[in-house]
Amino acid sequence: MYSREGQAVGTFKAVVVTKGESGTSAALSDFNDADLMEGDVTFRPEWSTVNYKDGLAVTGKSPVVRRFPMIAGIDGAGTVETSSHPDWKPGDKVILNGWGCGETHLGMYAQRARVKGDWLVPVPTGMTTRDAMAIGTAGYTAMLAVMALERHGVTPARGPIVVTGAAGGVGSVAIAVLSKLGYHVIASTGRTSEAEYLQRLGASEIIAREELAGTPRPLAKERWAGGIDSVGSVPLANVLAMTKYGGAVAACGLAAGMDLPGSVAPFILRGVSLLGIDSVMCPLAVRRAAWQRLAVDLDRKKLSEITNEIALADVLDAGAKILGGGVRGRLVVKVD
Ligand code: NDP
Repeated sequence: MYSREGQAVGTFKAVVVTKGESGTSAALSDFNDADLMEGDVTFRPEWSTVNYKDGLAVTGKSPVVRRFPMIAGIDGAGTVETSSHPDWKPGDKVILNGWGCGETHLGMYAQRARVKGDWLVPVPTGMTTRDAMAIGTAGYTAMLAVMALERHGVTPARGPIVVTGAAGGVGSVAIAVLSKLGYHVIASTGRTSEAEYLQRLGASEIIAREELAGTPRPLAKERWAGGIDSVGSVPLANVLAMTKYGGAVAACGLAAGMDLPGSVAPFILRGVSLLGIDSVMCPLAVRRAAWQRLAVDLDRKKLSEITNEIALADVLDAGAKILGGGVRGRLVVKVD
């Protein structure tokens, strides 16, 4: 039996990753309601996003998917349909990101999802589900990084903040938030053609990626009070070596590599701290605080500037593009 839209009854559209003899592959397919995993809340994702990790999942470039078949998509926002969880009722607008969705639990590139109510965060007042996913995991991770710097006492008066991978998702939101909070932002990018875009977001200075690409010395000239790094490897080692006495760098990504070829000199001679940022298993109270902060500290006009909209069917191409560093800002996915 088929619905008026030609959809088989009891199924929904989803981007499904399967595993065969030659590896994994992803396709837009019909998925059975009956095959949803356990959970006490069923909701209808209206918007999702393309994050770097989604690119890894749909292309199979890295083994982030650990159950097959898997619906990809690490984050989504939508409306609750049914719930036996005390915090949620039908009609509530919710955000889900992380907790293994798209990796070990069926993910958000889907017109239906069943999850644990304990994983959900309410969409903050004044934000739409589309806004929430324009921000997405990348933007929420940027906020976690800003909050980590604040906890460490890195105020605007202490000096500039460098943001690496500046034209990417984490980088773009980090620049917009930091500039609104009054920080002097130095954006490091491999795409100097995006200088105007980065300035519109609030970057005061732009530096070329190459400036952080040389073999890291234990210590270099002190240039910034802190950093938000989404690339790891050599650039992160150089950022640390150039951080001022007592400063801190929040590290959340590995776009340049997972290694860290530096020395302990910044830590033991300048009291610099390396702050680790994880969005996936981050406790609920911190998540709620981060989303509330995003509702206040991220200029919505800048969010529009950062965001491009695509359809569910476009996710496969976009996944490959983000891994090549070819996506500017954020991609928001219209699921319905
Ligand atoms: P994007 O692809 O949108 O941004 C990454 C940016 O890094 C690119 O736009 C590019 O910026 C830069 N970049 C890419 N390749 C290289 C390279 N070889 N050397 C130096 N810079 C490079 O991804 P996201 O912003 O969504 O994610 C960024 C990173 O953060 C990823 O590694 C992701 O896995 C990680 N992440 C981690 C989370 C966590 O919980 N810890 C949560 C979310 C993301 P430019 O062109 O400006 O140089």
